[in-house]
Amino acid sequence: MREDAIAKFKQSHRGIVIQRGEPGYEEARTLFNAMIDKRPLVIMQCANAADVMAAVNFGRDNGLSIAIRGGGHNGPGLGSVDDGLVIDLCRMRGVRVDPAARTARVEAGCTQGDVDHATHAFGLATPAGIISTTGIAGLTLSGGHGYLSRKYGLSIDNLLEADVVLADGSFVTASKDQNSDLLWALRGGGGNFGVVTSFLFKLHPVSMVYAGPIAWPQEHARVIMQAYRDFLPKAPEELGAFVGLKKVVSSAPFPQEFWGARICLLMSCYDGSEEAGKKALAPLLDKLPPPALNWMGTMPYPAVQSMFDGLYAKGMQWYWRGDFVKTLPDEAIEAHLEQAAKTPSELSLMHLYPIDGAVHRVGKGDTAWNCRDATWSMVIAGIDPSAKNAKAVTQWTKDYWEAVHPFDLGGAYPNFMMDDEGEARLRATYGENYPRLSALKKKYDPANLFRVNQNIKPSV
Ligand SMILES: Cc1cc2nc3c(=O)[nH]c(=O)nc-3n(C[C@H](O)[C@H](O)[C@H](O)COP(=O)(O)OP(=O)(O)OC[C@H]3O[C@@H](n4cnc5c(N)ncnc54)[C@H](O)[C@@H]3O)c2cc1C
Repeated sequence: MREDAIAKFKQSHRGIVIQRGEPGYEEARTLFNAMIDKRPLVIMQCANAADVMAAVNFGRDNGLSIAIRGGGHNGPGLGSVDDGLVIDLCRMRGVRVDPAARTARVEAGCTQGDVDHATHAFGLATPAGIISTTGIAGLTLSGGHGYLSRKYGLSIDNLLEADVVLADGSFVTASKDQNSDLLWALRGGGGNFGVVTSFLFKLHPVSMVYAGPIAWPQEHARVIMQAYRDFLPKAPEELGAFVGLKKVVSSAPFPQEFWGARICLLMSCYDGSEEAGKKALAPLLDKLPPPALNWMGTMPYPAVQSMFDGLYAKGMQWYWRGDFVKTLPDEAIEAHLEQAAKTPSELSLMHLYPIDGAVHRVGKGDTAWNCRDATWSMVIAGIDPSAKNAKAVTQWTKDYWEAVHPFDLGGAYPNFMMDDEGEARLRATYGENYPRLSALKKKYDPANLFRVNQNIKPSV
């Protein structure tokens, strides 16, 4: 019966429909995180909003679990589902920049790299994450933080409008003038409310930046983390800079004498000239010992946005945990140092991304994304190319997180959660916004059709 339904569906679908066992299925089902191995029944790679509407109706009417896939980067693989339907936006990658209005209309299958490429030609950009292959859709719908966030806010703070296919198959636009409650929910509430087919983002004048990594040997990590903690709140908002604990990967372009060495990393992007960037960083760097590496330089913004793409390519094992952090007391730094010393693989990492500046100027209730009083979004990621090390990186991540979790603010960035963290974590993340989100879930998706996500249950 379902076979007949799919055959009939294919006749009116402009994109590509791939069933289990058909050519292209293995490639189409593969996710960024190789630890997740899901086998959907059917993948519908939609060409446009009409295809998405038909796909939603098909999934609902045939009782299929539905996953929505943007860039397929999600840690727990929530862009796919076993034995169900994947509505895949990967063929919808158009970007239209309006340089006069300083906006970009972005189709939901775009990667960050697609958006940066299109907007950079106009000397414009919108805040997003730090790896260009990440899907703009999943990243944005749960927040979206990156180098530009201190100055221009989260991706959702720059989201003006979204086109959405709802659970009943209808198409609506969410903006401040139409369905404004839906826009509120989409600004942080994830894929709970419908399939977004396109976004309208605000753009800012960003072109050449002074950016790159600076790294010190691990023995200096304590003093660097302390100095960074004290420096960041007073630093100009043009400076996006995160601190990390990790190892140097044993390959080019890293100098061989550092291969495998544990380091403390400061990764910065200054939106402005080299001279101004050096001046902004001086109060921090002048206090610190000389680094082992300083690769900062002037570059186009898309270059820093894709600087880590080669290191963190698709197909590795990932397990991660996050927390929002307000303060970083010395005891917390000690716990970080102790856990980082046990890093089981060269690629595993801990990063603290700044959540301040413009992000703090938006009210906690103004968007679904509630953790506006955090100072950092922390991620601990166990990463390794080999499936043999999956257990080791998972256990390291969990142990590390247990050790530093007592210093958290409550809740974590949904984009840094796995799917084994429980509803209480999600409630803590959304805080006082949870009841409104739950009520809007009931309004827009009462049967919880879109539940393959960090799920917000419809209110009873
Ligand atoms: C290497 C790496 C680096 C990262 N760096 C950052 C960073 O710097 N900053 C940051 O904020 N995050 C970062 N992330 C996290 C990233 O934001 C999440 O993994 C995000 O979920 C990826 O989005 P996606 O579209 O690729 O995911 P997918 O796996 O395709 O989708 C994830 C979820 O998003 C929802 N979704 C996707 N598309 C749609 C849509 N069109 N409509 C409705 N719902 C949809 C669905 O619920 C889906 O379950 C990083 C992730 C990785 C792997």
